[in-house]
Amino acid sequence: MVTPNPEFTKEIESRGGGQVLMCFQCGTCTASCPSGKQTSFRTRKLMRMAQLGLKDDIVNSEELWQCTTCYSCVERCPREVPIVDIIIALRNIAVDNGHMYDEHKKVATALSKYGHTVSINDNVKAQRKDLGLPEVPPTVLANDKAKADLDKILKATGFDKIIG
Ligand code: SF4
Ligand code: SF4
Repeated sequence: MVTPNPEFTKEIESRGGGQVLMCFQCGTCTASCPSGKQTSFRTRKLMRMAQLGLKDDIVNSEELWQCTTCYSCVERCPREVPIVDIIIALRNIAVDNGHMYDEHKKVATALSKYGHTVSINDNVKAQRKDLGLPEVPPTVLANDKAKADLDKILKATGFDKIIG
């Protein structure tokens, strides 16, 4: 027997997740989900778990991370449930509760260090040079001020503390 936890549904909303209670469990999202065709992830089930406030089950679930944020479900949902916003809110809550995969930590660390989730290496630099391009693209990689601004944002949002 599951006891609904309305406080958790309020927490999802307050974290930008929107109205999960609007979902009437039609299953259109699951049927539209390309990720669910390859994995055990079921969008409708996650929405139901969120409605019931099953926080522990959600933050510990591998499926929470199997959405690619393609928005197919959002385009088709007859109730206009902000499914992706809800999933992002749930992921943020999961991270706040100490659930972050090493792979995600590596990507986040690269963003913090270089300003890009994938850093540039010597091989890429050489290829760019062969193509007549600057070795380093004109992004945050080549702009100290932009990198300093990014550092400020990461610090102000607490991002640096999350990745340790
Ligand atoms: S498509 Fe919308 S209403 Fe239907 S189950 Fe998914 S979230 Fe709920
Ligand atoms: S946004 Fe996520 S849940 Fe929705 S269809 Fe795409 S992969 Fe599935």
